Amino acid sequence: MDNAMQLAEVRAPHVRDVRANLAGELVVPGDESWDEARLAWHLAIDQRPVAVAIPEDVNDVIEIVSWAVDAGFRIAPQGTGHNAPALGDLSGTVLMKMHRLKGVEIDPETRTARAMAGTIWIEVVEAAAEHGLAALAGSSPDVGVIGYTLGGGLSWLARKHGIGANQVTAIELVTADGEFRRVDRENDPDLFWALRGGGGAFGIVTAIEFNLFPITEVYAGWLFFPIDRAGEVLRAWRDWTETAPEEITSVGRLLQLPPIPEIPEPFRGNSYAAVEVIYSGDDFEAAEAAIEPLRALGPTMDTVAAMPVTGLSHLHMDPEEPTAGSADGGMLDGLDDAAIDAFVGAVIGTPILSAEVRHLGGAVARPRPEHGALASFDAEYLTFAVGMIPVPELDAPVRAAVHGFLQAMEPWAAGHTYLNFAEGRRDARTLWTPTAHRRLRRIKAAVDPGDVIRSNHPL
Ligand SMILES: Cc1cc2nc3c(=O)[nH]c(=O)nc-3n(C[C@H](O)[C@H](O)[C@H](O)COP(=O)(O)OP(=O)(O)OC[C@H]3O[C@@H](n4cnc5c(N)ncnc54)[C@H](O)[C@@H]3O)c2cc1C
Repeated sequence: MDNAMQLAEVRAPHVRDVRANLAGELVVPGDESWDEARLAWHLAIDQRPVAVAIPEDVNDVIEIVSWAVDAGFRIAPQGTGHNAPALGDLSGTVLMKMHRLKGVEIDPETRTARAMAGTIWIEVVEAAAEHGLAALAGSSPDVGVIGYTLGGGLSWLARKHGIGANQVTAIELVTADGEFRRVDRENDPDLFWALRGGGGAFGIVTAIEFNLFPITEVYAGWLFFPIDRAGEVLRAWRDWTETAPEEITSVGRLLQLPPIPEIPEPFRGNSYAAVEVIYSGDDFEAAEAAIEPLRALGPTMDTVAAMPVTGLSHLHMDPEEPTAGSADGGMLDGLDDAAIDAFVGAVIGTPILSAEVRHLGGAVARPRPEHGALASFDAEYLTFAVGMIPVPELDAPVRAAVHGFLQAMEPWAAGHTYLNFAEGRRDARTLWTPTAHRRLRRIKAAVDPGDVIRSNHPL
């Protein structure tokens, strides 16, 4: 049965009834705002759920969960839709878009933040900075705090401070039984463990609380090189990462920027091999000395300098508005010379706009007993490639290039990968350790036996 038919069965009087109880909206096919309501940040994804629920508050979330369960639908919570491609076919599913649950509170005494489900990272970053604090935010200012954190959360401070999910102190959510719960180390520790890196399959998260760090300034920026030096620069960067201090997180990257007005000069229409470095310690002179071997390579442009920590939200030049593109990535067991050759060969001359390798290790490689479902990353490097799809004719070539990129890196792929960087469907057993995966499945069966809540990467 298609979505419209399923909805017609429950449409009257149920949809009218539930709408009367909501401060927010329940949008169904045929409504004037239908096409806008079902958009994701990933504009190339055509989301066709049975209905789109847009709660305004926690009561709305409870009301919508009860309605959807009664009607026999599943529910897919969505913050921004940055990972919408992984969600797949939304038949029989109510898409619950959380963007109106806004609000960030910073407690400078305990150095913690509380963010409502619709919060995006830049909102936390700016609020925390007013108190001289920094969050473990990702590269992009408009990624959702909840989706990012439930999936792990790899920030520019990661090698020093670890995976974002492991700094979470409490989570509030509505589970499939319509119950509102606040979970932390003392209250429902199993569910609290699962939510920290186990993804969004356990309920509709309405708020999250996490630790902040006293960082106001970082020493960070780019070293740009001509793209024809890609192999040499990436090899030198790889060698350098082997002894880089934990205060430095860095990225080796290839950029092939199209000649479009959205890209500022001097980058417009140019291609680069580049290294991004982010130092988050106190001794900028030591940082300068540490990156000297990279500077000795003779970059054509060097932007590495002291900057406010808020600048990290824009450093990576991620798109800051909804975008049509295709991307995917995965963990690499190693980055030998052959892997670098494969990386360069899979990118140069293709419609891939950016391909990067992020250096892991340090605190992200150290599991601790108090950590959640994603306790650490074993792999040393994480890769991600993206191409833009500004016109439909580019859809197939860009997808083919991203697919080709993953295939080219396959010989070096780690046995496991990172949920947040996987934009296509993965075998769930590759997203967590076998022990963590089994425990996650047990917790899911206990908290949502009917498998009502759908996540981007099901267990
Ligand atoms: C441009 C770009 C840059 C990125 N940079 C980084 C980075 O630096 N580091 C990093 O770790 N990741 C990064 N990511 C990956 C990003 O963390 C994931 O795409 C993440 O899933 C986005 O969360 P979201 O809420 O914005 O997206 P959504 O697609 O809305 O959410 C993804 C999933 O999270 C779950 N979810 C979201 N909200 C809720 C909720 N309220 N309750 C329950 N479940 C929920 C759902 O399962 C949902 O399918 C980047 C992605 C992009 C596209």
